[in-house]
Amino acid sequence: MSEISGFEPVIGLEVHAQLLTNSKIFCGCKVSYGQQPNSLTCPVCLGLPGALPVLNKRAVEFAMRMILATGGTVKNRSVFARKNYFYPDLPKGYQISQYDKPIGQGGKIKFKLENGQEKSCGLTRIHLEEDAGKSLHPEHGEPYTRVDLNRCGTPLIEIVSEPDIRSAEEAYGYLSKLKQILQYLEVCSGDMEKGHLRCDANVSVRPVGQKKFGTRTELKNMNSFKGVEKAINYEIKRQTKLIKSGGTVTQSTLLWDEKKQVAEEMRSKEESKDYRYFPEPDLVNLIVNDAWKEDVSKNLPELPDEKSTRLISDYHIRQYDALVLTDSRALADYYEKVMVDFGDGQAAANWIQTEFLGLLKESKVEIQESKVTPEMISALLAKVKSGELSGKMAKEVFGEMFASGKQAEDIIKDKGLVQLSDESALGTIIDNIISVNPDNLAKYRDGKTNLLGFFVGQVMKETKGQANPQVVNKLLKEKLEG
Ligand code: ADP
Ligand code: MG
Ligand code: ZN
Repeated sequence: MSEISGFEPVIGLEVHAQLLTNSKIFCGCKVSYGQQPNSLTCPVCLGLPGALPVLNKRAVEFAMRMILATGGTVKNRSVFARKNYFYPDLPKGYQISQYDKPIGQGGKIKFKLENGQEKSCGLTRIHLEEDAGKSLHPEHGEPYTRVDLNRCGTPLIEIVSEPDIRSAEEAYGYLSKLKQILQYLEVCSGDMEKGHLRCDANVSVRPVGQKKFGTRTELKNMNSFKGVEKAINYEIKRQTKLIKSGGTVTQSTLLWDEKKQVAEEMRSKEESKDYRYFPEPDLVNLIVNDAWKEDVSKNLPELPDEKSTRLISDYHIRQYDALVLTDSRALADYYEKVMVDFGDGQAAANWIQTEFLGLLKESKVEIQESKVTPEMISALLAKVKSGELSGKMAKEVFGEMFASGKQAEDIIKDKGLVQLSDESALGTIIDNIISVNPDNLAKYRDGKTNLLGFFVGQVMKETKGQANPQVVNKLLKEKLEG
């Protein structure tokens, strides 16, 4: 019996996504990662007295994209609020966020589990807020912590889920899909390692069959989806064990320690902060009219689910292939460009998934940076289709194409790669091979027909692998059977 049997986990996720705007949410400072510390600041994002915020329209539009793409409602009126707390990376002493009147309400994320099972998780709200700066804690025993305020005022959306998630694996599936949608919408890079996407997980457990939720804890500080999955599993086990042994869970915030693989308490509810929210007096209400909503809605790109359904019907590929090919917009676009000049959808899907993605992964090259254009792949696949190249030769040509960016045509010339399909030339070679192997010929005719493989091998050796296997098989059978 598993250690959590008899109990059901309940999970709700809070995701912060940095928006890919050029400038910050309330000032004109540039948003850029990895710049000289404190070089991208001004009186507004430094929180100097008298400086006033002005809302970035593009940030609002990006939030609207995500709300509309997930089936939520963009509120006609939403309100910014001050969330007050003291922290060294928050020079104003408050963060401008949205509280009881967020811009987005409702919607859901549909996602698939590893075994293909479909799930759905409701969204409570999506709101806009500004990011804080960053404290750089001592790494080499310095006696001080440094503060970089470049991140202050970076626009964020916070996406709060309903407590609809029931396992760590589901949380992983939800996050992957959420990230994919953000990337399709081009509103967030989705890079968790760089902190462009951050996730807090609320976890509780309850006896199977009980309606009422158990007391939750909130996990923070995970820096990968796998980390989130592990932290949740850790916490489910801890809470279940605690309850089974007669204890009770206390509401608290825990920090995940990736090195130690444990979650440690940061603060309990008693010491939890009172943020003393109140409406931001320096900003008017955010009004979004229907025309703007319609405009954003009309201009949403094709989303992953729609794209994968369309690829299956347009190119007659399997559902699994469509899922892989729509992993990113760039990959799906690439595939469709290959298909402009090539007719066999499944062959192109196979080639891209095994050969192309294989080499990209191996060489850690992004698809956009590859020297191989979609047209080059179409041309190569056409040569396989026509029998000019064998699959094996095509792989050799492709390896060279990937490394050098040369066209298939040129590589074939340079390497003298031609597939021998000519029946009379191959016939002569086969006759010679049969005549120097009389024993095997006799055995074959005696019923050991699996010796066909031996003869095919000999022909391939003789032709340095350039013989067309279909033609060789056909001729050999004719001749061996005499
Ligand atoms: P807070 O500001 O205290 O974090 P929010 O309402 O912003 O509260 O977020 C609460 C998150 O916790 C939501 O994702 C919600 O689905 C989830 N949640 C609420 N109650 C529970 C519970 N008992 N168990 C697990 N998750 C929960
Ligand atoms: Mg929270
Ligand atoms: Zn600024």
